[in-house]
Amino acid sequence: GHYRIFTPYWRTWRTAAWRQPCRAPETVSVPAGIEPGDLPFPDRGSSAGLLPGGERAGRDRATAWLDGPLKAYGDERDLLASDETSRLSAYLRFGCVSPLALAQAALSRPGGEEFCRQLAWCDFFHQVTAAFPDIGTEDYRPSPHGPRNWAEDPDALDAWRAGRTGIPVVDAGMRQLTAEGFMHNRARMITASFLTRTLGIDWRHGYRHFRELLADGDVACNAGNWQWVAGTGNNPRPGRMLNPLRQAARFDHDGDYVRRYVPELASLAAPYIHTPWKLPTAHRKQLNYPDPLSA
Ligand SMILES: Cc1cc2nc3c(=O)[nH]c(=O)nc-3n(C[C@H](O)[C@H](O)[C@H](O)COP(=O)(O)OP(=O)(O)OC[C@H]3O[C@@H](n4cnc5c(N)ncnc54)[C@H](O)[C@@H]3O)c2cc1C
Repeated sequence: GHYRIFTPYWRTWRTAAWRQPCRAPETVSVPAGIEPGDLPFPDRGSSAGLLPGGERAGRDRATAWLDGPLKAYGDERDLLASDETSRLSAYLRFGCVSPLALAQAALSRPGGEEFCRQLAWCDFFHQVTAAFPDIGTEDYRPSPHGPRNWAEDPDALDAWRAGRTGIPVVDAGMRQLTAEGFMHNRARMITASFLTRTLGIDWRHGYRHFRELLADGDVACNAGNWQWVAGTGNNPRPGRMLNPLRQAARFDHDGDYVRRYVPELASLAAPYIHTPWKLPTAHRKQLNYPDPLSA
């Protein structure tokens, strides 16, 4: 069996006996005659803001994180503009940083308990995926009323992918993804909810787009979270949807996250930066920003 709901999983995770991380080997034998060179970084595609890869960069980031911003993690992790999360996900996903070593170093520090809870989410989705390997293609929780009726709307899907939905906080998230190969967790939730709940588009489209662009893209965490938001997965409240405007008011109160990624709106003050369609028509037209698909 496996845990279907996170909270009992977390309780067990928290009290389980932890092993010591493996010790680093004294020496590593590599085949002769190979010049490893530098890590390949020639082409970041359009993701110009992608972080540098590799173990050294990951470990440096982990140390700086543990000694600094971790202490404010519990209060700040949802604030879009402050960007105070570890950004270790891609290093964890590629094994550049050990989650066990990270958890052991973090747990007793201020902010550590909340941080470890997030690390446990990743493990949670991995054990769900071990039990349900089709998580990237099939609904984990099939509807009792037969197949779900997802909307077919290629134009809306394209607008969502391009960050041109006309909902600033959604567009900011989608543009962060393109620019950095990363998106803040709160923005992932808002953009995923907007696609699946507001536009009614199948989560598989969103999952595939994220998989293509996220540096931390991983079947278990990506599909597990998509299904959680879409209400087809492990969410104990599957009917819950996020209102993007309320989310924006709460987690990007001054509009700085939108300002960073949606330059057309940078001159606007809050609250108009989140609702540009409420501006007088003449002003709105100057912005070269689309009307909302849905508000
Ligand atoms: C629709 C959607 C898709 C997602 N796709 C992925 C994905 O492909 N790969 C991925 O690693 N995370 C995914 N996440 C989870 C989360 O958004 C990222 O792990 C987090 O934003 C990474 O930033 P960070 O390293 O600064 O996180 P921090 O807040 O610093 O958290 C530390 C670590 O905990 C883990 N973690 C945090 N939140 C979650 C979560 N909700 N689910 C699983 N693990 C979590 C990650 O390993 C993360 O690096 C997704 C979330 C959503 C809503």
